[in-house]
Amino acid sequence: MTADSMQALVYTGAGELEVQVVAAPDPGPGEARIEIARCGICGTDLHLVLENYARPGSVLGHEWSGRIAALASDVDGWSLGDRVVAAPPPACGECRSCRRGRPAVCRRRGATDYLSFRGAFAEYVIADSSLLRRIPDKVDDRAAALTEPLAVALHALSLAAPEPDDRVLVTGAGPLGLLAIAALRARGVSDITVSEPASLRRDQAEKVGARRLIEPSDLADPPMGEPVTTPFDIAFECSGRADAAAAALDQLDRAGTLVLLGTGSTEPRFNHNRMIVLELVVLGSYNYDADGFDDALSMLSSDILPIDELVDPVEIGLLGVASAIRESADGKRRGKVLVDPSAARTDVHQ
Ligand SMILES: [Zn+2]
Ligand SMILES: [Zn+2]
Repeated sequence: MTADSMQALVYTGAGELEVQVVAAPDPGPGEARIEIARCGICGTDLHLVLENYARPGSVLGHEWSGRIAALASDVDGWSLGDRVVAAPPPACGECRSCRRGRPAVCRRRGATDYLSFRGAFAEYVIADSSLLRRIPDKVDDRAAALTEPLAVALHALSLAAPEPDDRVLVTGAGPLGLLAIAALRARGVSDITVSEPASLRRDQAEKVGARRLIEPSDLADPPMGEPVTTPFDIAFECSGRADAAAAALDQLDRAGTLVLLGTGSTEPRFNHNRMIVLELVVLGSYNYDADGFDDALSMLSSDILPIDELVDPVEIGLLGVASAIRESADGKRRGKVLVDPSAARTDVHQ
């Protein structure tokens, strides 16, 4: 394997992924070539593959950590071997969304193009050097790969602004739910109940700091126009399931907030009368705060997060991604599955 070519996991259509040898990307002006150390499998990747939204020829994977392997000659301030993640392009600061303090939905940021998307389920990616962030020495490659999904969880916390004495419900204890629980604990919120059907994931939720573990069927049907007996101030919906979203709304106290983080293909039904009489708020949470990657890196370096419980104990190479995606969708993986693209270079289609 030379630096001219690399292995990449290519989406070939119809839910199929194939490890191929492709040209290694060269950095253009202002860019760096990053050798991927770890790349996490995201819930978005599950949807893109299993529901066939991805465009054939694309390479998925956006939750990565890596090392600078090549630099364009005009890049200053970085050296080969530096450990980095790449933050998203900054919001413009001027559009209507930005003026309203909502940089995550800046109107001048381009949407992700999945047709030409060149992600990090590959040995190398190209990144604009202006977006690079140095990984602190005490944050290892695995933890650094959590920067992006942790920034997603922290953004939901910013929008919902939980107080330490709030009662919080988290529905779904997949990787995103676990990160939300850990981030809540790190921010001083301790009264956290997790609703999750898979016992493996309930156990994991307890390990990352949930106080109470229930199954979805344990969630109470609310009396008309009144909160349930033990209601919640905030619910974070991390499963992407329509029934979980509707049930989470039903558990809220007066003036409660439901934050939707998990995407899904079935639309939830919300009781609007209940929203009116209890003045409930439903918020979508997308992407990150303006400084979300910096906040995530500083939380990761503070030793406050249970990294070993947030990542799945079994790491995989590119060849293992397809089955790991199916297992994650079935709730059979314990935490964030991390991919090491340099592992197991066999069975490659050229
Ligand atoms: Zn993600
Ligand atoms: Zn803007």
